[in-house]
Amino acid sequence: MKCLICERRKGKRHCPAKNGYICPTCCGDKRGVEINCPLDCTYYVEGQRYQQEKVSRQRLRKEGAGSFIRRAEMYNKNPEIFNDIEIAFVNVFRTNNRIRNADLAEGLGLVLKTLDTEKRGLVYNHRSENSIANEISARVLRIIRDYKDNIELRKSKISLDYGREVVQEFLHEVEFFVENEVNSRSYFIHILRYHPQRAETSHPAGNIILTS
Ligand SMILES: [Zn+2]
Repeated sequence: MKCLICERRKGKRHCPAKNGYICPTCCGDKRGVEINCPLDCTYYVEGQRYQQEKVSRQRLRKEGAGSFIRRAEMYNKNPEIFNDIEIAFVNVFRTNNRIRNADLAEGLGLVLKTLDTEKRGLVYNHRSENSIANEISARVLRIIRDYKDNIELRKSKISLDYGREVVQEFLHEVEFFVENEVNSRSYFIHILRYHPQRAETSHPAGNIILTS
């Protein structure tokens, strides 16, 4: 039986999303990225774990344990905002899959500049010539401001400084991919693997939520 996707190699793995057999190469390359994998697929779960371990090992080797502890502490304070920001990245990527790691880094740089300006008491959105970077920046700022200012979210309200730290952490992570990965979209592929289900933006308050 031939792989349903490439129609060349042998289909050895049952793919629940494609409802048929695909080859290990297509599964490895496309799972969670081009294939909308259900979370109970063992190939998906195993692949995800492998990917995560690989990136963790690389970062640990390069940066030491300190950066991990710092990130874990920050994450535990408010996991929802990390999730919302990742979903924003996924949504931007799914509407424009030409976007590169470098565009994301530029967008996050704009967010940091804007938050620094805000800290000095001025509301001014820094922009660049790069429209994708502007789009990233606008989406991330909307999330930060929602968590910072929206009283309905009082439970997980954040400070400007915390929002800035989170953005800095994402930027740091993206820069790691820019420096260490050949594929210019590797960070998106990494993030997509954590969010395989279709994610849509929609919420009256401007939040980004999962609808599937
Ligand atoms: Zn194939």
